[in-house]
Amino acid sequence: MPVSPLAAASEREVPFYESVGNECGLFDQAFRQRLPLLLKGPTGCGKTRFVSHMAAKLGKPLFTVSCHDDLTAADLTGRYLLQGGETRWVDGPLTRAVREGGICYLDEVVEARKDVTVVLHPLTDDRRLLPLERTGELLEAPDDFMLVVSYNPGYQHILKSLKPSTRQRFLAMSFDFPPPRVERDIVARESGLAADQCAALVNLAASLRAMKGQDLEEGVSTRLLVYCATLIQGGMPILEAARATLVEPLSDDADVQEGLMEAIHATF
Ligand code: ADP
Repeated sequence: MPVSPLAAASEREVPFYESVGNECGLFDQAFRQRLPLLLKGPTGCGKTRFVSHMAAKLGKPLFTVSCHDDLTAADLTGRYLLQGGETRWVDGPLTRAVREGGICYLDEVVEARKDVTVVLHPLTDDRRLLPLERTGELLEAPDDFMLVVSYNPGYQHILKSLKPSTRQRFLAMSFDFPPPRVERDIVARESGLAADQCAALVNLAASLRAMKGQDLEEGVSTRLLVYCATLIQGGMPILEAARATLVEPLSDDADVQEGLMEAIHATF
């Protein structure tokens, strides 16, 4: 009987990921149908964890690249390096994923230099090709190659959003902070803190997130809630933990910080 790659994963170490909808099913289909996937959503809401969870479930190697504004196509494809007196071609993470099979995840892809899109285009249509100009190779992606990219629509400005000609090559799904019960379970599982205390933190997050837009660029992330719960679980007083995780990382402005602390005092 054929074993589905998802079922076959049970024996392996799969990073914990609590699904919110049918995101695992969509990812699985995209992988099987050899389609690239775009994940949109705020920072710290589980996109990276989701991709590592799915890569482990599918039993495929994961090549993750955190994109930044100096990242060029050569950082992804590879370059000639001087090694032991010899010049040798060294594959970049994208080329490795295409050669070896696996999932290549480009986190915050809009941050990268423009020449990156030139490399991605032939890989994200039915050609599934990676031309390596420097070596003269034209690599055809194997069936188990998948490209996943993410970006945060919240803080993109007009010069740094994905062009329609690029984004329309991907299946796409939106991520957001999980619903309260799910987020409570995630925070409890990740930190080991009791569920009722995690529920209080998640309630607090809702009121802090409501302040987004007025004074804050981004709402408090699930990642920061996990940090807060971890410090409390480690014995730190709640208010001290909250200041270090839910106030200081969010804003440098004294008035905004005071507003956040007020909301925290109202909860604890
Ligand atoms: P992003 O890639 O969206 O910036 P991450 O995937 O790094 O965010 O998530 C940050 C942290 O939040 C993770 O390390 C994990 O502890 C927690 N987390 C968020 N969402 C989930 C989820 N659905 N299941 C499990 N953990 C989650």
